[in-house]
Amino acid sequence: MSEQLSALSLGVYPWQQDQWLQLQNMIQQQRFPHALIVGGVPGLGKLTFVNTLVAALLCQNKINDNACGHCKSCQLLAANSHPDFKLLQPVEAGKAILVDQVRNIQHSMATTAQQGGARVVVINGASDLNLNSANALLKQLEEPGNNSYFLLIHQWPKMVLPTVRSRCQLLDIAKPTPKQGLNWLQQQLSDDELTIEATESLLQLANGGPLKAIELHASKAQDLRHQMLVELTAILRGQKTPIEVAQIWQKKPLVPMLNWWVEWLNDLVKLKMTEDASHVSNTDIVKLLQAVAKRSDIVAIYTLLENIIQQLNFINQRRNLNPQLVCEELLHQWYFLVKSGN
Ligand SMILES: [Zn+2]
Repeated sequence: MSEQLSALSLGVYPWQQDQWLQLQNMIQQQRFPHALIVGGVPGLGKLTFVNTLVAALLCQNKINDNACGHCKSCQLLAANSHPDFKLLQPVEAGKAILVDQVRNIQHSMATTAQQGGARVVVINGASDLNLNSANALLKQLEEPGNNSYFLLIHQWPKMVLPTVRSRCQLLDIAKPTPKQGLNWLQQQLSDDELTIEATESLLQLANGGPLKAIELHASKAQDLRHQMLVELTAILRGQKTPIEVAQIWQKKPLVPMLNWWVEWLNDLVKLKMTEDASHVSNTDIVKLLQAVAKRSDIVAIYTLLENIIQQLNFINQRRNLNPQLVCEELLHQWYFLVKSGN
């Protein structure tokens, strides 16, 4: 789901500092790209980063290359009524960006900037452009006009169409270092009195995205992950059948669950290759992973891994899937996984 842009939140997170300086230099030296895709895993604050960039590009009175927050341009932007700033995103979460939406901004980009400065279009969901809307956008990306900028936010892990990607510069927001992420998260969750271990595991669950970690914390994702592990173990022990577990899973949020499963299987691959547990990312379940790795064949692990990734892609492409059947098939493979190594 795309994050919706309502009130502009501005700021640069600690892990974004280097890349922010890089872009500031580009603005200063007037070599800021006309089309930039900002990517990176969920929960790194891409939208806030882009908003801050928009403010800096539009501000008429920059202070140290940052938006001043006071000029006419900054005020209009804060009030969500800047005439030279356009936002494109799916009308409804989960839908594509439509060709008419792209055409609507074409006109405003073709006229002179009303505030006399830059013109900026943010596409919040570069991966939500379908073929038609992408085609309508291509010409603008090629001939953007003077002082016009397109900032596209990549909704990872969905794909951005190659035709769009090839016309943009790419900037992947880097994940914080584990220490940086942990420090920041501890500050944010200081009222919750979480242990360091719990905070670490939260960050790990979020695949290193600190804002995602906060979201997961709020949604009690740790409980869901724990329950999932209990059920996977029950299948291996023959205490539950894949069909029984599929009935439970089909009512749950499949995307995060499948993503976790992918990570566990990646860890299994590492264990098969090196037998060295220090490379495992999911350190809390090393014993389980080692037991499964011992009894599984690497080809079977890869096959399950590929199938899960394929299902995730189908979900991202919004294909209509039968969750019960998807879960049943994958869980069957999981059941046979530990028999594959014999
Ligand atoms: Zn300003």
